[in-house]
Amino acid sequence: MNATPTPRGHAVVIGASLGGLLAARPLSESFERVTLIERDELPAAPDHRRGAPQDHHTHGLLARGRHALDQLFPGFTDELVAASAPLADLQADMHWYFDGRPLAPTRSGLVGVAASRPLIEYVVRSRVAAIPGVTFIDRCPGLDLTTSPDRSAVTGVRLLGGGEGAGERVIEADLVVDASGRGSRSPVRLEQWGYGRPREDRVHIGCTYMTQMYRREPHHLDGRIGTVCSSYPGQPRGGIILAQEHDRFIVTLAGVLGEEAPSDRAGMIAYAETYAAPEFAEVIRTAKPLGEPVQLRYPASVRRRYEDMAAFPEGFLVVADALCSFNPLYGQGITVAALEAVLLTDLLAESRDDLWRRFFRGAAELVDTPWALVLGGDLRHPQVEGARTAQSQSFAEYMTRYWSAAHHDALLGTALLRVTNLLDEPASLLAPDLVDRVTAHC
Ligand SMILES: Cc1cc2nc3c(=O)[nH]c(=O)nc-3n(C[C@H](O)[C@H](O)[C@H](O)COP(=O)(O)OP(=O)(O)OC[C@H]3O[C@@H](n4cnc5c(N)ncnc54)[C@H](O)[C@@H]3O)c2cc1C
Repeated sequence: MNATPTPRGHAVVIGASLGGLLAARPLSESFERVTLIERDELPAAPDHRRGAPQDHHTHGLLARGRHALDQLFPGFTDELVAASAPLADLQADMHWYFDGRPLAPTRSGLVGVAASRPLIEYVVRSRVAAIPGVTFIDRCPGLDLTTSPDRSAVTGVRLLGGGEGAGERVIEADLVVDASGRGSRSPVRLEQWGYGRPREDRVHIGCTYMTQMYRREPHHLDGRIGTVCSSYPGQPRGGIILAQEHDRFIVTLAGVLGEEAPSDRAGMIAYAETYAAPEFAEVIRTAKPLGEPVQLRYPASVRRRYEDMAAFPEGFLVVADALCSFNPLYGQGITVAALEAVLLTDLLAESRDDLWRRFFRGAAELVDTPWALVLGGDLRHPQVEGARTAQSQSFAEYMTRYWSAAHHDALLGTALLRVTNLLDEPASLLAPDLVDRVTAHC
């Protein structure tokens, strides 16, 4: 077994949202110093930030992501629970509507924690801030990257501000990690440096969230922690209700293909009444609203194929949403960012050699399944453009029967939730015993 290399050098992370924070964890084991640069002022408590407008909206943490977060930050789940985030069985204590029909409930053993996005980020940020050698520079936009004269390596970050009267300056780094989110400028920079842009895959879904917080009373949803109602062909509306810390529910009325929920109470109730799940209209009608509804538009999932690039500067990586941003309805972004951080831990423990190639190759493998789930789900809408193969069509047809059967057979529901929580591969749903159970109900 190799001894863990002694930490050396300086790593700089651009963006201190969840992608940057999670990447900082493995970097802190390999680099003597880690600096996170963030454009926003970072709040001293769980609170909203301008640079993360999605933090007003429902964030589900998949079971696989929660496990990875507990691995990176032992006791992470306990900390959320201590902050009053509910912990519950994902099938017994939640309702799931697929194709307009609820999954049969059962105790699945899949445990989820329901916390607000600001709380999740705050807990992770506090953990990262406590690591020796980690520094945050907030209120500080990273302006540009510096490179070696031949542009074969990234050498630092040119930044503006980061303190009273601070002007423009350069901080040098042995590794720069771009965690600036889906608006990342890395493709443009790489082109300017002569590497060309990474190939980009896009799935246009035209998704809009309308989200509002409500007071949660014990009688709501008969004590369950939430309901998820997916959109499907012919029904572009869906949504999520999820309990949050401090006795609250967050309710998102979502629409895809340009469908948008209104923001007035009567309009929201009328919109929610078109759902198969009666809980949405019920909560909006009976629960006390806390604050105003907030809208966010998400046009398309974007996957940047850095793993296909023939050349890439040394000392540079791109992670999390900057690498791949998923339709938020699948709740995968934080989980994939956490899995990338686990991957980075393993790679850095081996060596720093050829890091970009090893990281992008490994990350592509991690992204393949969640990306396939997004493709499989979104391409069921005939209006969504993308390649439909005979194999994908036949799997989609099987899944339509599967969801229908899972309305009666709770074991099928558990197997399905294990896949959507990224614990099992989609191919596991084709196991002969599951195929038999689907056939028995259809
Ligand atoms: C509506 C919505 C709902 C979502 N729901 C879920 C969910 O249910 N479950 C889930 O797992 N994921 C969800 N996601 C995805 C999740 O929010 C992201 O995957 C997660 O935040 C990690 O993203 P990131 O850190 O890479 O990028 P972001 O969160 O976008 O953060 C980028 C950060 O970089 C900073 N920044 C940008 N440019 C600069 C610069 N030049 N200098 C300094 N700082 C800079 C920004 O201020 C920001 O803080 C959702 C996303 C959206 C949009």
